[in-house]
Amino acid sequence: MTTELSTGCIDLMARTTDPSQSVPPEEAICQILSIKKIAATNPQAGDRYRIILSDGVHFAQAMLASQLKHIVETGAIDRNSVVRINQYAANNVQGRRILILLGLDSLGPPLTERIGAPVNWEQSQQNGGANGAAGGAASRPANGAAPKPEAGASNGKPALGGAKPAGTKPLSRGPSMANGAPIYPIEGLSPYQNKWTIKARVTSKSDIKHWSNQRGEGKLFSVNLLDESGEIKATGFNDAVDKFYHLLQENKVFYISKARVNIAKKQFSNLNNEYEIAFENSTEIEECLDATDVPEVKYTFVPIDQLDGVEPNQTCDVIGVVDSIGESNEIISKASQKPITKRELNMADQSGMSVKLTLWGKTAETFDASLDKPIIAFKGVKVSDFGGRSLSMFSSSTMMINPDIPEAHGLRGWYDNEGAGAAGNFKTFAGSGLGGLGAGGGNAGSNMSERRTIAQAKEEGLGMSGEKPDYFNMRATVVYIKQENLSYPACPSQNCNKKVQQEDDGSWRCEKCDATYPAPEYRYILAANVSDHTDAMWLSGFNDIGELLIGMTATELEKIKAESETEFASVLHKATNKMFMFNIRAKQDSFNDMTRVRYTVTKATPVDWAASANELADAIKAQL
Ligand SMILES: [Zn+2]
Repeated sequence: MTTELSTGCIDLMARTTDPSQSVPPEEAICQILSIKKIAATNPQAGDRYRIILSDGVHFAQAMLASQLKHIVETGAIDRNSVVRINQYAANNVQGRRILILLGLDSLGPPLTERIGAPVNWEQSQQNGGANGAAGGAASRPANGAAPKPEAGASNGKPALGGAKPAGTKPLSRGPSMANGAPIYPIEGLSPYQNKWTIKARVTSKSDIKHWSNQRGEGKLFSVNLLDESGEIKATGFNDAVDKFYHLLQENKVFYISKARVNIAKKQFSNLNNEYEIAFENSTEIEECLDATDVPEVKYTFVPIDQLDGVEPNQTCDVIGVVDSIGESNEIISKASQKPITKRELNMADQSGMSVKLTLWGKTAETFDASLDKPIIAFKGVKVSDFGGRSLSMFSSSTMMINPDIPEAHGLRGWYDNEGAGAAGNFKTFAGSGLGGLGAGGGNAGSNMSERRTIAQAKEEGLGMSGEKPDYFNMRATVVYIKQENLSYPACPSQNCNKKVQQEDDGSWRCEKCDATYPAPEYRYILAANVSDHTDAMWLSGFNDIGELLIGMTATELEKIKAESETEFASVLHKATNKMFMFNIRAKQDSFNDMTRVRYTVTKATPVDWAASANELADAIKAQL
């Protein structure tokens, strides 16, 4: 293996502003001085690695592109490894020049020590920065460190030194070309470079969305793009919609150039890229017919019978035979108060189970209902716990009808031979035991218990729509527990719970069981006032909720009360100032001609602080 580094290449690479002028790999042999793991702030993003790279004269900060992290994790590179940089980008990140390493090869096991006495490239810029871009810095011995001017020459290759000023060298190897333009990996895009072309596959395309506000009207659409380095979202406004909406088709590969790179608005995207693309008037898009090197959409299918192992609100990929296609109909969205078209599909797979999946908007309107038992692969659909488990498309979800993939052929074979016999009679997910399930069957994919603040629950009028209850969940603190009528004496026989009356002889009688007992079992009928940062509300809860909130059985508490009212009040006081996640059923209640909404706790769990903080961090990050 070589132990000779490409002296001066760090300087040349760090100065690269035009990807077509990259330093060729054979002249970019560097040593890794350190590797540091940067823990992901977003759990979906995964960890990344910061690397300090040396060419023997200079060292500089570099980030390993996320798709390369396996080479650290498998031990292929380590501290003091000598590597060849095959592809890179130089970006300005928060005022610093950072090399993004997009491709590299290890040239053997790590050395025992570092080569030379490299100095910080960034500092050498500040100290003698007047050298300009003509490669002067590289040829200048840095702070007395001995450069190795003949290092490359002894390999039969010219040393870099100052002989090849950055920016004038013609491309030898490196990025591939499309119509003469250099192809740039998505991961290397940044607002600091404007000469680039990407070659990417459209993995999803939105509908055309219209808006109108005080400043005028407009329309937009967006696509998600994929290449082997990563993913990025691209959006076109107005004229760009007319120009590109029909050209860009899902699953096809395109050359895209001369568009703007902006900071991503993450609240409108499900990708982790820091940046996104906006198509401009000058943007050029051309379909690419040689797409073999661009990855296809990768599916990680979850068999239908395993969907109950996926948490509600997560996304997953699902493939199935469409057993039945519902009618499309228009509903008013509760949150936006706007009409939206929906259509439900029933999908089944070899597991013998079926699940409902809801299509929305244009996808629902234009779905070809005449298809005969199509196989559909869905990417990134939302899992909900309505009806046990059901699915719903997001705007970023994709749907491929009769895709040419092995899983689809397997399903087709199964369905035509066995599955069709069970058509319409597949097993379904049972409801989770709460009332009102399956009623109407028209809510596949919507979570029974979406998170609300107290103010939202009231503003949206949850529970006020008549007979049908609404479900939501919320995080709130118990402020007060009502002392009166906190529990009642119940029949102690199993599954009865009927209120019992004390007889003259002191025994307790249950009408239903027609029996008397020496003592009743007290059960909670809790009324608690809870509060969050928006408002307060009264909740009612039955025995299990009371036991959780108060921390003892109602019978135990009744005993305390009989002994000391003070101690009883103290127990209830201790139960306040605690935060819980509440699942709530909201339903109208009529009493003495008064109609009001009653909020009943169906489930309460103590707050998982770590999970809750991560959730908040994600919500905050979506605003950044
Ligand atoms: Zn009874």
